[in-house]
Amino acid sequence: MSESEFQRGVLPAAEVAKILNAARVPNILFGWKLTSLSLILETAVRALIDNGFNYCDDAQCVELKLHRWWKRFEQNTPYPVTDIAALCAWNNVHEKADAHFHIKEKQFPGPKFTVVSLFKQSRVLWSLPTLTLDPVAPDDPTFILTNDTARLPPLTADRVKSPSGPWTDVSPVKTLTNTALVEAVLWLVLRCLRYKNHDIENYWHRMFHWLFLASIEGERQRALRDTLKPEFEPLIDKYQDESKAETPTEYLKRLLPQLIAKGKV
Ligand SMILES: [Zn+2]
Repeated sequence: MSESEFQRGVLPAAEVAKILNAARVPNILFGWKLTSLSLILETAVRALIDNGFNYCDDAQCVELKLHRWWKRFEQNTPYPVTDIAALCAWNNVHEKADAHFHIKEKQFPGPKFTVVSLFKQSRVLWSLPTLTLDPVAPDDPTFILTNDTARLPPLTADRVKSPSGPWTDVSPVKTLTNTALVEAVLWLVLRCLRYKNHDIENYWHRMFHWLFLASIEGERQRALRDTLKPEFEPLIDKYQDESKAETPTEYLKRLLPQLIAKGKV
């Protein structure tokens, strides 16, 4: 495994999953660029603290702000280049976690991602089956292990668009299949549309954009369309329809009343 893969948060993610599995806390890896997990909270927090993770209870922490860089807006100070980059980051406005930890430099030297965020399943992944510690079947449509070399696409030379490839050098982490991840994000977009939570809608929409439009090649886009739930299939067509007769968001808004009536959002 190359150094760049480790920088994507592989080591912290694998370590967190190992600790939570040992504590009998059902968990999966989920979130923006694979940095968050969804699970039962209190036991998880205790288990991570007991294993040296740095729990944050700072009420002023930037992770508790909707806009992570809110403080700097208020201070109206000149921005270093790195701050401007942070302000423009797609995940600057984010879904606030139920608990979070800051990764210490000596814990995982040089990780690109420095926060482990924990969410209760009901907050973000209500659309999924209840998480368990059960093993993952080789053809499970919802869950997949991060070391599944048969189902996960390999790392390629294109380091911008490439997936990370299977994680074969660390203990496996339960995560979502491509289809289940895209659907989970779409449910989150729909929930934001229902409650007119436009900032967070943008956040999830951008994640969908990244998952679908930027990081998946044509063949996989077609495979994705064929495995999505029927109500989401037309959405893929809307993205690919150059006439833009109906935008993807317009389609989702049209779909929303039906899904609310069915109790899905
Ligand atoms: Zn914090």
